[in-house]
Amino acid sequence: MEENTKSLNFLEQIIEDDLASGLPQSKLRFRFPPEPNGYLHIGHAASICLNFGLGLKYNAPVNLRFDDTNPAAEEQEYVDAIKNDIQWLGFKWDKELYSSDYFQQLYDWAIVMIQEGKAYVDNQSSEDIAKQKGTPTQAGTNSPFRDRSIAENMDLFLKMKNGDFPEGSYVLRAKIDMTSPNMHMRDPIMYRIINASHHRTGTSWKIYPMYDWAHGESDYLEQISHSICTLEFKSHRELYDWYLDQVYAENTIRPKQREFARRNLSYTVMSKRKLLKLVEEKHVAGWDDPRMPTISGLRRRGYTPQSIIKFSEIAGIAKRDNVTDVALLEYCIKDDLNKTAPRIMGVIDPVKLVITNYPADAEEWLDAENNQEDENAGYRKVPFSKELYIEREDFKEEAHKKFFRLSIGIEVRLKNAYIIKATHVVKDTYGLIAEIHCTYDTDSLSGSGTEASKRKVKGTLHWVSVKHAVKSEIRLYDRLFNHEAPDSQKDKDFKEFINPDSLKIVTGFIEPSVKLAAIGDRFQFQRLGYFCLDKDSSKDSLIFNRTVTLKDTWAKISAKE
Ligand code: ATP
Ligand code: MG
Repeated sequence: MEENTKSLNFLEQIIEDDLASGLPQSKLRFRFPPEPNGYLHIGHAASICLNFGLGLKYNAPVNLRFDDTNPAAEEQEYVDAIKNDIQWLGFKWDKELYSSDYFQQLYDWAIVMIQEGKAYVDNQSSEDIAKQKGTPTQAGTNSPFRDRSIAENMDLFLKMKNGDFPEGSYVLRAKIDMTSPNMHMRDPIMYRIINASHHRTGTSWKIYPMYDWAHGESDYLEQISHSICTLEFKSHRELYDWYLDQVYAENTIRPKQREFARRNLSYTVMSKRKLLKLVEEKHVAGWDDPRMPTISGLRRRGYTPQSIIKFSEIAGIAKRDNVTDVALLEYCIKDDLNKTAPRIMGVIDPVKLVITNYPADAEEWLDAENNQEDENAGYRKVPFSKELYIEREDFKEEAHKKFFRLSIGIEVRLKNAYIIKATHVVKDTYGLIAEIHCTYDTDSLSGSGTEASKRKVKGTLHWVSVKHAVKSEIRLYDRLFNHEAPDSQKDKDFKEFINPDSLKIVTGFIEPSVKLAAIGDRFQFQRLGYFCLDKDSSKDSLIFNRTVTLKDTWAKISAKE
Protein backbone atom coordinates (compact mmCIF):
# COMPACT_ATOMS: atom_id res chain seq x y z
CA MET A 1 0.00 0.00 0.00
CA GLU A 2 1.26 3.43 -0.83
CA GLU A 3 1.73 5.76 2.04
CA ASN A 4 0.38 9.14 1.05
CA THR A 5 -0.93 10.62 4.24
CA LYS A 6 1.55 12.43 6.38
CA SER A 7 0.29 12.59 9.92
CA LEU A 8 -1.24 15.93 10.80
CA ASN A 9 0.41 18.21 13.28
CA PHE A 10 -1.81 19.43 16.10
CA LEU A 11 -2.54 22.76 14.41
CA GLU A 12 -3.61 21.04 11.20
CA GLN A 13 -5.80 18.84 13.37
CA ILE A 14 -7.48 21.92 14.85
CA ILE A 15 -8.13 23.26 11.36
CA GLU A 16 -9.47 19.91 10.19
CA ASP A 17 -11.83 19.85 13.17
CA ASP A 18 -13.04 23.39 12.38
CA LEU A 19 -13.66 22.39 8.77
CA ALA A 20 -15.52 19.30 9.93
CA SER A 21 -17.74 21.40 12.17
CA GLY A 22 -18.80 23.69 9.36
CA LEU A 23 -16.14 26.32 8.71
CA PRO A 24 -16.00 26.62 4.91
CA GLN A 25 -12.51 26.05 3.54
CA SER A 26 -12.86 29.27 1.58
CA LYS A 27 -12.86 31.15 4.89
CA LEU A 28 -9.46 29.93 5.95
CA ARG A 29 -6.95 32.73 6.14
CA PHE A 30 -3.60 32.97 7.87
CA ARG A 31 -1.01 35.61 8.55
CA PHE A 32 2.65 36.01 9.41
CA PRO A 33 3.00 39.02 11.74
CA PRO A 34 6.61 40.16 12.17
CA GLU A 35 7.52 43.25 14.11
CA PRO A 36 9.92 45.25 11.90
CA ASN A 37 12.42 45.71 14.70
CA GLY A 38 15.11 43.40 13.39
CA TYR A 39 15.95 40.81 10.75
CA LEU A 40 14.20 37.47 10.58
CA HIS A 41 15.94 34.47 12.11
CA ILE A 42 15.65 30.71 11.76
CA GLY A 43 12.96 30.74 14.48
CA HIS A 44 10.83 33.02 12.35
CA ALA A 45 11.39 30.60 9.50
CA ALA A 46 9.47 28.01 11.54
CA SER A 47 6.52 30.37 11.76
CA ILE A 48 6.80 31.34 8.09
CA CYS A 49 6.94 27.72 6.93
CA LEU A 50 4.04 26.89 9.21
CA ASN A 51 1.71 29.72 8.17
CA PHE A 52 2.58 29.76 4.48
CA GLY A 53 2.62 25.97 4.52
CA LEU A 54 -0.98 25.98 5.79
CA GLY A 55 -1.83 28.48 3.07
CA LEU A 56 -0.47 26.14 0.42
CA LYS A 57 -2.05 23.06 1.94
CA TYR A 58 -5.53 24.59 2.18
CA ASN A 59 -5.22 26.89 -0.81
CA ALA A 60 -5.86 29.80 1.55
CA PRO A 61 -4.45 33.34 1.53
CA VAL A 62 -1.67 34.31 3.93
CA ASN A 63 -1.19 37.95 4.82
CA LEU A 64 2.11 39.51 5.64
CA ARG A 65 1.29 41.87 8.46
CA PHE A 66 3.88 44.11 9.99
CA ASP A 67 3.16 44.52 13.64
CA ASP A 68 4.39 48.08 13.77
CA THR A 69 3.05 49.45 17.02
CA ASN A 70 6.31 50.57 18.60
CA PRO A 71 7.92 53.35 16.55
CA ALA A 72 10.90 53.51 18.90
CA ALA A 73 12.26 50.18 17.66
CA GLU A 74 10.91 49.86 14.14
CA GLU A 75 12.46 50.87 10.84
CA GLN A 76 11.86 50.69 7.11
CA GLU A 77 15.18 48.85 6.68
CA TYR A 78 13.70 45.95 8.65
CA VAL A 79 10.48 45.97 6.63
CA ASP A 80 12.49 45.66 3.41
CA ALA A 81 14.75 42.94 4.81
CA ILE A 82 11.78 40.90 6.06
CA LYS A 83 10.03 41.05 2.68
CA ASN A 84 13.22 40.08 0.92
CA ASP A 85 13.78 37.09 3.20
CA ILE A 86 10.25 35.72 2.83
CA GLN A 87 10.45 36.03 -0.93
CA TRP A 88 13.84 34.36 -0.95
CA LEU A 89 12.36 31.44 0.96
CA GLY A 90 9.92 31.19 -1.93
CA PHE A 91 6.65 32.16 -0.23
CA LYS A 92 4.06 34.57 -1.59
CA TRP A 93 1.85 36.61 0.68
CA ASP A 94 -1.62 37.65 -0.31
CA LYS A 95 -1.70 41.20 1.11
CA GLU A 96 1.04 43.31 2.61
CA LEU A 97 -0.53 44.99 5.63
CA TYR A 98 0.48 46.96 8.69
CA SER A 99 -1.03 47.22 12.13
CA SER A 100 -0.58 50.95 11.65
CA ASP A 101 -3.19 50.72 8.86
CA TYR A 102 -5.66 50.17 11.68
CA PHE A 103 -4.60 52.91 14.11
CA GLN A 104 -7.71 54.96 13.36
CA GLN A 105 -10.07 52.01 13.63
CA LEU A 106 -8.44 50.87 16.86
CA TYR A 107 -8.76 54.38 18.24
CA ASP A 108 -12.43 54.55 17.29
CA TRP A 109 -13.07 51.24 19.01
CA ALA A 110 -11.22 52.45 22.11
CA ILE A 111 -13.53 55.47 22.22
CA VAL A 112 -16.53 53.15 22.15
CA MET A 113 -15.03 51.15 25.00
CA ILE A 114 -14.55 54.31 27.06
CA GLN A 115 -18.14 55.28 26.39
CA GLU A 116 -19.32 51.86 27.45
CA GLY A 117 -17.34 52.18 30.67
CA LYS A 118 -14.90 49.45 29.62
CA ALA A 119 -11.74 51.54 29.50
CA TYR A 120 -10.26 54.32 31.59
CA VAL A 121 -7.30 56.68 31.67
CA ASP A 122 -4.78 56.09 34.43
CA ASN A 123 -2.12 58.59 35.38
CA GLN A 124 -0.23 56.71 38.04
CA SER A 125 3.45 56.02 37.56
CA SER A 126 4.30 52.75 35.88
CA GLU A 127 5.81 51.57 39.20
CA ASP A 128 2.51 52.12 41.00
CA ILE A 129 0.59 50.37 38.26
CA ALA A 130 3.00 47.44 38.51
CA LYS A 131 2.65 47.30 42.30
CA GLN A 132 -1.13 47.13 42.10
CA LYS A 133 -0.93 44.28 39.60
CA GLY A 134 -0.54 41.71 42.40
CA THR A 135 1.13 38.36 41.83
CA PRO A 136 -0.05 35.13 40.25
CA THR A 137 -1.29 34.01 43.67
CA GLN A 138 -2.40 37.38 44.98
CA ALA A 139 -5.16 39.54 43.54
CA GLY A 140 -4.35 43.02 42.28
CA THR A 141 -5.90 46.22 43.58
CA ASN A 142 -7.91 48.81 41.74
CA SER A 143 -6.34 52.00 40.51
CA PRO A 144 -7.64 55.12 42.27
CA PHE A 145 -8.51 56.39 38.77
CA ARG A 146 -10.55 53.36 37.80
CA ASP A 147 -13.86 55.07 38.36
CA ARG A 148 -13.29 58.33 36.56
CA SER A 149 -16.35 59.61 34.77
CA ILE A 150 -16.77 58.78 31.12
CA ALA A 151 -16.54 62.47 30.27
CA GLU A 152 -13.25 62.85 32.08
CA ASN A 153 -11.85 59.72 30.40
CA MET A 154 -12.91 61.03 27.01
CA ASP A 155 -11.26 64.36 27.68
CA LEU A 156 -7.99 62.86 28.92
CA PHE A 157 -7.76 60.29 26.14
CA LEU A 158 -8.25 63.01 23.55
CA LYS A 159 -5.48 65.02 25.18
CA MET A 160 -3.23 61.94 25.16
CA LYS A 161 -3.92 61.60 21.47
CA ASN A 162 -3.27 65.26 20.79
CA GLY A 163 0.13 65.13 22.40
CA ASP A 164 -0.75 67.31 25.38
CA PHE A 165 1.01 64.99 27.85
CA PRO A 166 4.60 63.81 28.16
CA GLU A 167 5.59 60.20 27.52
CA GLY A 168 4.84 57.87 30.41
CA SER A 169 2.39 60.17 32.15
CA TYR A 170 -0.94 58.66 31.06
CA VAL A 171 -2.16 55.32 29.76
CA LEU A 172 -5.49 53.96 28.67
CA ARG A 173 -6.43 50.72 30.42
CA ALA A 174 -9.16 48.20 29.76
CA LYS A 175 -11.44 47.86 32.76
CA ILE A 176 -11.64 44.11 33.25
CA ASP A 177 -10.87 42.52 36.61
CA MET A 178 -7.99 43.26 38.99
CA THR A 179 -8.71 40.01 40.83
CA SER A 180 -8.59 37.75 37.78
CA PRO A 181 -6.36 34.70 38.25
CA ASN A 182 -4.94 35.62 34.83
CA MET A 183 -2.59 38.56 35.35
CA HIS A 184 -3.12 39.71 31.75
CA MET A 185 -6.77 40.36 32.58
CA ARG A 186 -5.94 42.79 35.38
CA ASP A 187 -6.83 46.02 33.59
CA PRO A 188 -4.23 45.69 30.82
CA ILE A 189 -2.80 48.78 29.21
CA MET A 190 -4.28 49.45 25.78
CA TYR A 191 -2.44 52.65 24.84
CA ARG A 192 0.72 54.44 25.87
CA ILE A 193 2.19 57.76 24.78
CA ILE A 194 5.32 57.51 22.62
CA ASN A 195 7.12 60.53 21.22
CA ALA A 196 8.93 59.00 18.28
CA SER A 197 8.50 59.22 14.56
CA HIS A 198 6.82 56.14 13.11
CA HIS A 199 8.29 54.77 9.89
CA ARG A 200 4.88 54.99 8.17
CA THR A 201 2.63 57.35 10.09
CA GLY A 202 5.33 59.86 11.00
CA THR A 203 4.34 62.02 13.96
CA SER A 204 0.60 61.95 13.37
CA TRP A 205 0.07 59.62 16.32
CA LYS A 206 1.26 60.32 19.86
CA ILE A 207 -0.42 57.24 21.33
CA TYR A 208 0.28 53.68 20.27
CA PRO A 209 -1.75 50.53 20.91
CA MET A 210 -0.20 47.71 22.93
CA TYR A 211 0.42 44.34 21.30
CA ASP A 212 -2.63 42.57 22.73
CA TRP A 213 -5.04 45.28 21.70
CA ALA A 214 -3.57 45.70 18.23
CA HIS A 215 -2.90 42.09 17.37
CA GLY A 216 -6.27 40.43 17.87
CA GLU A 217 -8.16 43.32 16.36
CA SER A 218 -5.86 43.31 13.33
CA ASP A 219 -6.54 39.59 12.96
CA TYR A 220 -10.25 40.36 13.14
CA LEU A 221 -10.10 43.20 10.62
CA GLU A 222 -8.29 40.92 8.20
CA GLN A 223 -10.69 38.07 8.98
CA ILE A 224 -7.87 35.70 9.86
CA SER A 225 -9.37 32.33 10.74
CA HIS A 226 -6.42 30.95 12.67
CA SER A 227 -3.94 33.22 14.36
CA ILE A 228 -0.95 31.11 15.18
CA CYS A 229 1.61 32.38 17.64
CA THR A 230 4.22 31.07 20.02
CA LEU A 231 3.60 29.56 23.45
CA GLU A 232 4.41 32.62 25.52
CA PHE A 233 1.11 34.05 24.28
CA LYS A 234 -0.98 31.20 25.62
CA SER A 235 -1.77 33.16 28.78
CA HIS A 236 -2.73 36.14 26.60
CA ARG A 237 -5.41 34.15 24.85
CA GLU A 238 -8.10 35.04 27.36
CA LEU A 239 -7.41 38.73 26.76
CA TYR A 240 -7.27 38.17 23.00
CA ASP A 241 -10.79 36.72 23.25
CA TRP A 242 -12.02 39.44 25.58
CA TYR A 243 -10.91 42.16 23.18
CA LEU A 244 -12.57 40.30 20.31
CA ASP A 245 -15.81 40.22 22.29
CA GLN A 246 -15.78 44.02 22.29
CA VAL A 247 -15.79 44.33 18.52
CA TYR A 248 -17.15 41.06 17.18
CA ALA A 249 -20.13 41.33 14.85
CA GLU A 250 -22.31 38.42 13.87
CA ASN A 251 -21.65 36.53 10.65
CA THR A 252 -18.00 37.45 10.61
CA ILE A 253 -15.03 35.19 11.16
CA ARG A 254 -13.90 35.11 14.75
CA PRO A 255 -10.15 34.51 14.73
CA LYS A 256 -8.83 31.69 16.85
CA GLN A 257 -5.49 32.13 18.54
CA ARG A 258 -3.51 28.92 18.90
CA GLU A 259 0.03 28.47 20.14
CA PHE A 260 3.03 26.32 19.28
CA ALA A 261 6.52 26.06 20.78
CA ARG A 262 9.16 28.51 19.67
CA ARG A 263 11.98 27.10 17.62
CA ASN A 264 15.19 27.26 19.61
CA LEU A 265 18.51 26.22 18.18
CA SER A 266 21.56 25.03 20.09
CA TYR A 267 24.73 27.16 20.18
CA THR A 268 22.98 30.38 19.32
CA VAL A 269 20.62 33.04 20.59
CA MET A 270 17.43 33.86 18.81
CA SER A 271 15.90 36.99 20.22
CA LYS A 272 16.06 40.02 17.96
CA ARG A 273 17.04 42.15 20.92
CA LYS A 274 20.11 40.02 21.53
CA LEU A 275 20.95 39.73 17.86
CA LEU A 276 20.75 43.53 17.63
CA LYS A 277 23.27 43.74 20.48
CA LEU A 278 25.68 41.52 18.58
CA VAL A 279 25.35 43.83 15.58
CA GLU A 280 25.54 47.10 17.48
CA GLU A 281 28.51 46.05 19.57
CA LYS A 282 30.22 44.72 16.44
CA HIS A 283 30.68 41.16 17.63
CA VAL A 284 29.59 40.33 14.08
CA ALA A 285 29.84 42.22 10.80
CA GLY A 286 26.09 42.86 10.52
CA TRP A 287 22.69 41.20 10.55
CA ASP A 288 23.79 39.11 7.58
CA ASP A 289 27.09 38.01 9.06
CA PRO A 290 27.37 34.33 8.06
CA ARG A 291 27.60 33.34 11.73
CA MET A 292 24.22 34.85 12.57
CA PRO A 293 21.13 32.63 12.85
CA THR A 294 19.28 35.15 10.69
CA ILE A 295 17.83 34.14 7.34
CA SER A 296 20.10 36.72 5.70
CA GLY A 297 23.12 35.34 7.58
CA LEU A 298 22.30 31.78 6.59
CA ARG A 299 21.81 32.88 2.98
CA ARG A 300 25.19 34.57 2.95
CA ARG A 301 26.69 31.52 4.57
CA GLY A 302 25.46 29.46 1.61
CA TYR A 303 22.22 27.97 2.90
CA THR A 304 19.53 27.34 0.30
CA PRO A 305 15.82 28.08 0.80
CA GLN A 306 15.15 24.36 0.33
CA SER A 307 17.47 23.45 3.19
CA ILE A 308 15.73 25.85 5.56
CA ILE A 309 12.29 24.61 4.58
CA LYS A 310 13.46 21.01 4.98
CA PHE A 311 14.85 21.85 8.40
CA SER A 312 11.51 23.32 9.46
CA GLU A 313 9.73 20.21 8.23
CA ILE A 314 11.98 17.76 10.03
CA ALA A 315 12.16 19.77 13.24
CA GLY A 316 8.37 19.88 13.19
CA ILE A 317 5.75 21.72 15.18
CA ALA A 318 5.80 21.11 18.91
CA LYS A 319 3.47 21.89 21.79
CA ARG A 320 6.27 22.16 24.33
CA ASP A 321 9.45 24.17 24.45
CA ASN A 322 12.49 22.34 23.19
CA VAL A 323 15.86 22.98 21.62
CA THR A 324 16.71 21.74 18.15
CA ASP A 325 20.28 20.60 17.57
CA VAL A 326 22.11 22.85 15.11
CA ALA A 327 23.56 19.66 13.62
CA LEU A 328 20.12 19.01 12.10
CA LEU A 329 20.27 22.34 10.26
CA GLU A 330 23.76 21.46 9.04
CA TYR A 331 22.55 18.06 7.92
CA CYS A 332 19.79 19.72 5.85
CA ILE A 333 22.16 21.97 3.94
CA LYS A 334 24.66 19.18 3.38
CA ASP A 335 21.96 16.90 2.06
CA ASP A 336 20.77 19.59 -0.35
CA LEU A 337 24.19 20.70 -1.56
CA ASN A 338 25.35 17.13 -1.97
CA LYS A 339 22.78 16.81 -4.74
CA THR A 340 23.14 20.25 -6.26
CA ALA A 341 26.56 21.80 -5.66
CA PRO A 342 29.21 21.44 -8.37
CA ARG A 343 32.45 19.90 -7.16
CA ILE A 344 35.67 21.77 -7.61
CA MET A 345 39.14 21.49 -6.17
CA GLY A 346 40.63 24.03 -3.83
CA VAL A 347 43.46 23.86 -1.32
CA ILE A 348 43.17 25.93 1.83
CA ASP A 349 46.38 25.04 3.66
CA PRO A 350 48.77 24.62 0.76
CA VAL A 351 52.10 22.94 0.43
CA LYS A 352 53.85 22.68 -2.93
CA LEU A 353 54.14 19.33 -4.68
CA VAL A 354 56.74 19.06 -7.46
CA ILE A 355 56.44 16.18 -9.93
CA THR A 356 60.05 15.66 -10.88
CA ASN A 357 59.43 13.48 -13.95
CA TYR A 358 56.75 15.77 -15.41
CA PRO A 359 57.99 18.13 -18.16
CA ALA A 360 58.47 21.67 -16.91
CA ASP A 361 56.51 23.48 -19.62
CA ALA A 362 53.77 20.95 -20.15
CA GLU A 363 50.18 21.27 -19.08
CA GLU A 364 47.19 19.03 -19.58
CA TRP A 365 43.51 19.87 -19.20
CA LEU A 366 41.96 16.84 -17.60
CA ASP A 367 38.32 15.80 -17.48
CA ALA A 368 36.71 16.18 -14.08
CA GLU A 369 33.18 15.17 -13.16
CA ASN A 370 31.11 18.10 -11.82
CA ASN A 371 28.87 16.11 -9.53
CA GLN A 372 28.76 12.34 -9.30
CA GLU A 373 25.34 12.64 -7.58
CA ASP A 374 23.84 14.35 -10.61
CA GLU A 375 24.25 12.65 -13.95
CA ASN A 376 23.29 15.81 -15.82
CA ALA A 377 26.00 17.87 -14.19
CA GLY A 378 28.59 16.96 -16.81
CA TYR A 379 32.33 17.48 -16.86
CA ARG A 380 34.78 20.33 -16.80
CA LYS A 381 38.49 20.64 -17.63
CA VAL A 382 41.04 21.04 -14.87
CA PRO A 383 44.64 22.02 -15.64
CA PHE A 384 47.47 19.77 -14.49
CA SER A 385 51.13 20.75 -14.46
CA LYS A 386 54.50 20.04 -12.86
CA GLU A 387 53.86 22.08 -9.71
CA LEU A 388 50.73 21.58 -7.69
CA TYR A 389 49.38 22.57 -4.31
CA ILE A 390 48.09 19.90 -2.02
CA GLU A 391 46.77 20.18 1.51
CA ARG A 392 49.55 20.28 4.10
CA GLU A 393 47.76 17.75 6.27
CA ASP A 394 47.64 15.28 3.38
CA PHE A 395 51.35 14.61 3.73
CA LYS A 396 53.44 13.11 6.49
CA GLU A 397 57.10 12.31 6.11
CA GLU A 398 56.67 9.21 8.17
CA ALA A 399 53.18 7.88 8.18
CA HIS A 400 51.65 5.65 10.78
CA LYS A 401 49.68 2.61 9.64
CA LYS A 402 46.31 4.27 9.37
CA PHE A 403 47.52 7.29 7.43
CA PHE A 404 46.21 6.67 3.93
CA ARG A 405 47.50 9.82 2.39
CA LEU A 406 50.87 10.77 0.96
CA SER A 407 54.20 9.94 2.57
CA ILE A 408 57.68 9.10 1.38
CA GLY A 409 57.63 5.96 -0.73
CA ILE A 410 53.84 5.69 -0.63
CA GLU A 411 51.53 6.00 -3.62
CA VAL A 412 48.32 7.99 -3.78
CA ARG A 413 46.06 9.10 -6.61
CA LEU A 414 45.64 12.74 -7.46
CA LYS A 415 41.92 13.15 -8.07
CA ASN A 416 41.02 13.06 -11.79
CA ALA A 417 44.74 12.74 -12.60
CA TYR A 418 47.68 10.41 -11.97
CA ILE A 419 49.10 8.12 -9.32
CA ILE A 420 52.13 9.67 -7.66
CA LYS A 421 54.78 8.50 -5.21
CA ALA A 422 56.59 10.88 -2.87
CA THR A 423 60.40 10.73 -2.97
CA HIS A 424 61.73 13.42 -0.67
CA VAL A 425 61.04 16.81 0.85
CA VAL A 426 62.76 20.19 0.73
CA LYS A 427 62.62 22.18 3.96
CA ASP A 428 62.95 25.88 4.59
CA THR A 429 65.32 27.44 7.14
CA TYR A 430 62.76 26.87 9.91
CA GLY A 431 62.57 23.18 9.18
CA LEU A 432 59.10 23.48 7.68
CA ILE A 433 58.35 21.49 4.56
CA ALA A 434 58.57 23.86 1.59
CA GLU A 435 58.22 21.34 -1.20
CA ILE A 436 57.34 17.70 -1.53
CA HIS A 437 58.95 15.99 -4.46
CA CYS A 438 57.34 13.04 -6.17
CA THR A 439 57.22 11.09 -9.38
CA TYR A 440 54.13 10.18 -11.33
CA ASP A 441 53.14 7.05 -13.17
CA THR A 442 52.67 8.24 -16.77
CA ASP A 443 50.19 5.46 -17.58
CA SER A 444 47.92 5.94 -14.61
CA LEU A 445 45.61 8.75 -15.77
CA SER A 446 42.12 8.35 -14.29
CA GLY A 447 39.62 7.01 -16.75
CA SER A 448 42.25 6.17 -19.40
CA GLY A 449 41.44 2.50 -19.11
CA THR A 450 45.05 1.33 -18.82
CA GLU A 451 46.08 -1.36 -16.36
CA ALA A 452 48.05 1.25 -14.44
CA SER A 453 45.00 3.48 -14.16
CA LYS A 454 43.00 0.69 -12.58
CA ARG A 455 45.60 0.07 -9.91
CA LYS A 456 44.10 0.45 -6.44
CA VAL A 457 45.84 2.90 -4.13
CA LYS A 458 44.68 3.76 -0.66
CA GLY A 459 44.29 7.51 -0.84
CA THR A 460 42.98 10.10 -3.27
CA LEU A 461 44.03 13.72 -2.80
CA HIS A 462 42.66 16.95 -4.19
CA TRP A 463 45.14 19.37 -5.75
CA VAL A 464 45.42 22.57 -7.74
CA SER A 465 47.97 23.50 -10.39
CA VAL A 466 50.15 26.29 -8.99
CA LYS A 467 50.37 28.34 -12.14
CA HIS A 468 46.62 28.14 -12.81
CA ALA A 469 45.40 28.55 -9.25
CA VAL A 470 43.07 31.38 -8.28
CA LYS A 471 44.26 32.85 -5.03
CA SER A 472 41.25 33.49 -2.82
CA GLU A 473 40.29 34.55 0.65
CA ILE A 474 38.60 31.76 2.56
CA ARG A 475 36.48 32.52 5.58
CA LEU A 476 36.18 29.53 7.86
CA TYR A 477 33.32 29.82 10.31
CA ASP A 478 32.75 28.07 13.55
CA ARG A 479 29.90 28.43 16.02
CA LEU A 480 29.36 31.96 17.27
CA PHE A 481 28.93 30.67 20.83
CA ASN A 482 30.83 27.96 22.59
CA HIS A 483 27.93 27.11 24.88
CA GLU A 484 24.93 25.04 23.88
CA ALA A 485 22.46 27.46 25.45
CA PRO A 486 24.25 30.80 25.79
CA ASP A 487 21.25 32.76 27.00
CA SER A 488 19.97 30.38 29.61
CA GLN A 489 22.89 30.51 32.05
CA LYS A 490 22.00 32.08 35.35
CA ASP A 491 23.88 35.27 36.25
CA LYS A 492 25.82 35.19 33.02
CA ASP A 493 25.40 37.45 30.06
CA PHE A 494 25.03 35.53 26.81
CA LYS A 495 27.95 37.49 25.36
CA GLU A 496 30.32 35.83 27.79
CA PHE A 497 29.93 32.71 25.67
CA ILE A 498 30.94 34.25 22.37
CA ASN A 499 33.45 31.97 20.69
CA PRO A 500 36.60 34.05 20.07
CA ASP A 501 37.58 31.72 17.21
CA SER A 502 34.34 31.78 15.28
CA LEU A 503 36.01 33.23 12.20
CA LYS A 504 39.34 32.21 10.75
CA ILE A 505 40.54 33.73 7.50
CA VAL A 506 43.02 31.84 5.34
CA THR A 507 44.33 32.10 1.81
CA GLY A 508 43.29 29.32 -0.49
CA PHE A 509 44.10 28.31 -4.06
CA ILE A 510 41.21 27.25 -6.24
CA GLU A 511 41.05 25.67 -9.69
CA PRO A 512 40.52 28.25 -12.46
CA SER A 513 36.94 27.22 -13.38
CA VAL A 514 35.93 29.22 -10.32
CA LYS A 515 36.60 32.46 -12.19
CA LEU A 516 33.16 32.07 -13.75
CA ALA A 517 31.39 32.05 -10.38
CA ALA A 518 28.81 34.67 -9.45
CA ILE A 519 28.14 36.04 -5.97
CA GLY A 520 26.21 33.46 -3.97
CA ASP A 521 27.27 30.47 -6.11
CA ARG A 522 27.79 27.35 -4.05
CA PHE A 523 30.42 24.66 -4.50
CA GLN A 524 31.75 21.60 -2.87
CA PHE A 525 35.49 22.02 -2.47
CA GLN A 526 36.23 18.35 -2.65
CA ARG A 527 37.14 16.72 0.66
CA LEU A 528 36.83 20.08 2.47
CA GLY A 529 33.21 21.11 2.58
CA TYR A 530 30.71 23.42 0.95
CA PHE A 531 31.64 26.99 0.17
CA CYS A 532 29.90 29.93 -1.46
CA LEU A 533 31.13 33.10 -3.07
CA ASP A 534 30.67 36.03 -0.71
CA LYS A 535 29.25 39.39 -1.73
CA ASP A 536 32.48 41.10 -0.60
CA SER A 537 34.21 39.53 -3.62
CA SER A 538 35.31 41.50 -6.63
CA LYS A 539 36.37 40.25 -10.03
CA ASP A 540 40.01 40.18 -9.01
CA SER A 541 39.66 38.97 -5.47
CA LEU A 542 37.35 36.13 -4.67
CA ILE A 543 36.13 35.52 -1.14
CA PHE A 544 34.55 32.26 -0.10
CA ASN A 545 32.48 31.47 2.98
CA ARG A 546 32.62 27.95 4.27
CA THR A 547 29.00 26.93 4.66
CA VAL A 548 29.68 23.64 6.40
CA THR A 549 32.27 20.88 6.43
CA LEU A 550 31.59 17.41 5.08
CA LYS A 551 31.62 15.72 8.47
CA ASP A 552 28.20 14.36 9.25
CA THR A 553 27.64 15.02 12.93
CA TRP A 554 23.86 14.62 12.67
CA ALA A 555 24.04 10.99 11.52
CA LYS A 556 26.14 10.22 14.59
CA ILE A 557 23.77 12.00 16.94
CA SER A 558 20.61 10.47 15.51
CA ALA A 559 22.19 6.99 15.49
CA LYS A 560 22.86 7.28 19.22
CA GLU A 561 19.26 8.16 20.01
P1 ATP B 1 12.07 37.84 19.02
O1 ATP B 1 11.83 37.36 20.41
O2 ATP B 1 13.15 37.13 18.30
O3 ATP B 1 12.20 39.32 18.92
P2 ATP B 1 9.36 38.04 18.31
O4 ATP B 1 8.40 37.00 18.66
O5 ATP B 1 9.31 39.30 19.08
O6 ATP B 1 10.78 37.41 18.25
P3 ATP B 1 8.02 38.84 15.97
O7 ATP B 1 8.53 39.67 14.86
O8 ATP B 1 6.99 39.39 16.84
O9 ATP B 1 9.29 38.39 16.79
O10 ATP B 1 7.58 37.42 15.40
C1 ATP B 1 6.80 37.24 14.26
C2 ATP B 1 6.18 35.88 14.30
O11 ATP B 1 7.18 34.89 14.35
C3 ATP B 1 5.33 35.70 15.55
O12 ATP B 1 4.16 35.01 15.20
C4 ATP B 1 6.20 34.88 16.45
O13 ATP B 1 5.42 34.11 17.32
C5 ATP B 1 7.00 34.04 15.46
N1 ATP B 1 8.29 33.68 16.03
C6 ATP B 1 9.23 34.50 16.54
N2 ATP B 1 10.28 33.82 17.02
C7 ATP B 1 9.99 32.51 16.82
C8 ATP B 1 10.67 31.29 17.10
N3 ATP B 1 11.86 31.27 17.70
N4 ATP B 1 10.07 30.14 16.74
C9 ATP B 1 8.89 30.14 16.13
N5 ATP B 1 8.19 31.25 15.83
C10 ATP B 1 8.73 32.42 16.17
MG1 MG C 1 7.16 40.16 19.09
